Amino acid sequence: MRIVDVRERTVPLSRYEDPAIPSGGLDTSVVAVHIDAPSGPNVGYGFASIGRFGQHGLISDRFAPRLLNAVREDLVDESGELDPVRAWRVLMAGEKVGGHGERCVAVGALDMALWDLAAKRAGLPLATLLARRLGDGVAADLVPLYASGGYRYPSDDERRLRDEVLRMRADGYDRVKIKIGGAALGVDLRRITIAQEHLPSGHLAVDAMNAYDADSALVAAEALSPLGLWWFEDVCDPHDFRTQRAVTDRYSGRIAAGEPLFSWQEAALLADHGGLRPDRDILLFDPAHCYGVTGFARIVATMVDRGWKRDAFWPHGGHLFTLHVAAGLRLGGTEVNPFSFAPFGGLRDGDRVASGAARVSSEPGIGFEQRDALRTLFGGLAA
Ligand code: MG
Repeated sequence: MRIVDVRERTVPLSRYEDPAIPSGGLDTSVVAVHIDAPSGPNVGYGFASIGRFGQHGLISDRFAPRLLNAVREDLVDESGELDPVRAWRVLMAGEKVGGHGERCVAVGALDMALWDLAAKRAGLPLATLLARRLGDGVAADLVPLYASGGYRYPSDDERRLRDEVLRMRADGYDRVKIKIGGAALGVDLRRITIAQEHLPSGHLAVDAMNAYDADSALVAAEALSPLGLWWFEDVCDPHDFRTQRAVTDRYSGRIAAGEPLFSWQEAALLADHGGLRPDRDILLFDPAHCYGVTGFARIVATMVDRGWKRDAFWPHGGHLFTLHVAAGLRLGGTEVNPFSFAPFGGLRDGDRVASGAARVSSEPGIGFEQRDALRTLFGGLAA
């Protein structure tokens, strides 16, 4: 068995359901990895990230050629089947430590496709394969979810925010996360009040998208403290551990962090210097960012070593892949982007969310083919 073709394409992406609203030229990379197996599924699908732009150069010039040049023995397990962990080592061959940049996102896209293909060939949902290979053996059947969105609209923001939260509620979500940090604090506080009016108490999280500096982070933390939020996410620059710690020292509610950190080494820095509290805080590391599942599993192990429980992990991403990772590694839950980042955000067509949770597909792989828009996109790439 060899990897005989890696297709890659850059596609536009929007934070808004209406893609005409500007999203800063955001895009991502989709990949299809083909093997020359004589029988069974022979293609797996992945994508780079829903917030970090496409990775065309890194994938096409650096990482895809390593897979294409790999010999069979470097790609398969004892039974002769594709082994994504061994293939990951092929991807990382010759890479120096440190300086993670965004190579981890390029590797994450290919890693996702390798796991999708391995699960299809095993006839298992990815969650089940992950549970057997990297977890406790059995995947969770039901995964707690929250709906993510609430980006500020360029006009009529408060009405459109209310409508968005009401639609999330109608779709079965009872926990919601909205964005703050991009406007005056008074504007954000009004947005929080609007969202909270339509949610059970304590079920709204806010994401500052790393917007605050050392001073504004403390002002925001003081203003948010009495509001009973579910969590306060991405407070400041992800490497500003001094500010992260200062906020954590003053904010008794849950802090969520880790989305913009891409390696187990950075996770260790966050744990050791960010002041986070394993008894309450939330870890958002995104497996599509963190060198894929293989890198993400190392982050989970790093944090568990430091006293964290797996249910503190609520991976960022908001799509089918993170649903499988959360189920397979028995994490706390995961984000879902029901309206943003089409066609990647959200679950399969027809999936039902009830009381803020959903079941994982029993179909082999990640289930991209059970979503019309993704089947069309990936099918066109692979054809
Ligand atoms: Mg975030």
